[in-house]
Amino acid sequence: MASKILIVEDERSLSRIVKYNLEKDGHRVVVAEDGLSALAAARKERPDLVILDIMLPKLDGIQVCKSLRQESQVPILFLTARKSELDRVLGFKMGADDYVTKPFSVAELAARVEALLRRSAGGAAPAPGQLRRVGALEVDFERHEVRVAGKPVRVTAREFSFLKLLLEADGRVLTRDRILELVWGYDQSMEIDTRTVDQHIARLRRKLGAEGARIATVINSGYKLQKE
Ligand code: CA
Repeated sequence: MASKILIVEDERSLSRIVKYNLEKDGHRVVVAEDGLSALAAARKERPDLVILDIMLPKLDGIQVCKSLRQESQVPILFLTARKSELDRVLGFKMGADDYVTKPFSVAELAARVEALLRRSAGGAAPAPGQLRRVGALEVDFERHEVRVAGKPVRVTAREFSFLKLLLEADGRVLTRDRILELVWGYDQSMEIDTRTVDQHIARLRRKLGAEGARIATVINSGYKLQKE
């Protein structure tokens, strides 16, 4: 299926050959030559995949990736020229879906592009708001996935609902009664009380590791999201 691909690369000879080959494979290709125009192009064109060079004028690839990740889950394939750059990509756990090291063969790049497009569900970037990120904690409302520093965390449906509630409350306090009502519903047959809420939340905190501390207890009241 034809996809829209954004190439962010300031070396024209390189972007030209990549564009040519991806178009030959039937994709639509948009090229940006610096970091700022890359962000503008990503917002305007909503590409299915971004090929992102690291050394770029105005805003480097890492910064571009961070900004893109606040807005969408579009697959990002990094182009790295040096090992030091690769270390930065790998060190920056969230965001990069794959990378190729320069010099690369166009066939290899095309193969990675196809693999990434297949992996991303339907290829379309989700609308802003479906993915929430606070620190290293990432909650994907659409796919019902939770990640910490890019690593998936298995949570129960209730834990997911609670996290969603917490993120939507955006730092406001959620009382235990409110959590009970919204996450467990009014089903009295379950005979759960607010202590059960505390136990569930303690378990969720452990699952989230270092990011668990974001779920702050408000004495005699409930819980809130610690954003800083
Ligand atoms: Ca470059």
